[in-house]
Amino acid sequence: MKYLSTRGGEKDLTFKNILFSGLASDGGLYVPDVWPQINYNALKKINNYSELALEIIYPFIGEDIKKKELKDLIDNAYSKFSNNNIISFKNLKQKEYIVELFNGPTLAFKDFAMQLIIPIFDHYLLQENKKLNLIVATSGDTGSAAINAVNQSKKINVFCLFPKGRISSFQKKQMTTVHGENIFPIEVDGTFDDCQNIVKSILVDREFSEEFSIAAVNSINWSRVMFQIVYYFYTLIENNISENEAINFSVPTGNFGDIYAGYVGIKMGLPANKLIIATNENDILDRFINSGNYSIENVTRTTSPSMDIAIASNFERLLFDLYDKSSSLTSKKMNELKNNKFFSVNSEQSDLVKKIFSSKKINQNEVNDLIKETYNEFNYIIDPHTAIGLGASRSLNQIGDNNFILGTAHPIKFSDTVEKAIGQPMQSSEEFNKVFDNEEKFYSFKNSTDEVRNIIKDNYSK
Ligand SMILES: *Cc1c(COP(=O)(O)O)cnc(C)c1O
Repeated sequence: MKYLSTRGGEKDLTFKNILFSGLASDGGLYVPDVWPQINYNALKKINNYSELALEIIYPFIGEDIKKKELKDLIDNAYSKFSNNNIISFKNLKQKEYIVELFNGPTLAFKDFAMQLIIPIFDHYLLQENKKLNLIVATSGDTGSAAINAVNQSKKINVFCLFPKGRISSFQKKQMTTVHGENIFPIEVDGTFDDCQNIVKSILVDREFSEEFSIAAVNSINWSRVMFQIVYYFYTLIENNISENEAINFSVPTGNFGDIYAGYVGIKMGLPANKLIIATNENDILDRFINSGNYSIENVTRTTSPSMDIAIASNFERLLFDLYDKSSSLTSKKMNELKNNKFFSVNSEQSDLVKKIFSSKKINQNEVNDLIKETYNEFNYIIDPHTAIGLGASRSLNQIGDNNFILGTAHPIKFSDTVEKAIGQPMQSSEEFNKVFDNEEKFYSFKNSTDEVRNIIKDNYSK
């Protein structure tokens, strides 16, 4: 498998190349040059998550890692999940399922990618006896997933930027109470997009990022997308869905990474009909689907902070496909966005999008109502992100469809919001209490690149 940049500046790269560099030097995102094809009916024979992951992921990695080694890495990564089946399902109404993606060590779907990416980095670093400085911008869940995974690595430092006052206290504590020597949680006085911009500016400075062996594991890193494809297939297989049935996935969406993995799944042979972009008030994608205009607005702070974004970073990958893999048209649109905070597509591209995607915005009052209703009706607690997925799914449901709502986080991560909605305290376990009780340690920086550069310089390992 070879990879190229959506903006045309780089091509013929291997998986290893793009794993380490994350963002292309022309500012574009890496994509594979072809979609590997999978026969869904043949895949149905596999009912073990790790085995399925191996079949789906291996073609994207190719010769870079031996299949047997990849198998061990995958088995080991998913052995850290609390549920033996990795994913559990909660059937609410008829043909309406919550896909519980929060059985990993940090209780959100980000663990699916992070628990595997870090050992894969380590695998390469051990071969070459090198160290790595990872930089991450997080709206909450990516950071804790990265810190948990890196805590076990002897080869990696992680510098984790999170926006001040814009993540839940549980999310913050998951990052700030780990205290490893190789772990640097950094609070930035700005928004998630400010954190992301700091990361981008460090990454595009090739001289700096090479000198200090820097890599990024943001949602723009292709490998994160790749590991998330697996659960779309697994969901349908585990629920004995045949390819002729009507199937929708509703995905609580921020940076468009998770739902884009579903899109890649469809390109590979996943028999899904619709992917529903479920957004909160930060609705750039919902506005795009409705109007064909992609325009940046200010970020609104909501009770689903992991979706509080102004730009959906992975959207560029879809745009590239909409323009039939034209890097010049993709670059043109992305430049318009940079200069004017806006671009639009014509009806040809709009129609292509709407064949696969629908969208729905769910506001915070609706989120509270959905959490409360679900608790009262099913004695089941959902987190605010999952509630957005559920609300979007219900508003677009057609009778007879199978609706799978990705449950992206455990409700304990957002207990403040959840407890208000259900009107009583949530039960917590000893493991969760530990997170609440430990002392917090973190850095607090202005919204500027300099301080982040300095802390990397002062602490990097060769
Ligand atoms: C990251 C995250 C999302 C959004 O996923 P994207 O890949 O950014 O679209 C939704 N819900 C939760 C809980 C998350 O952590």
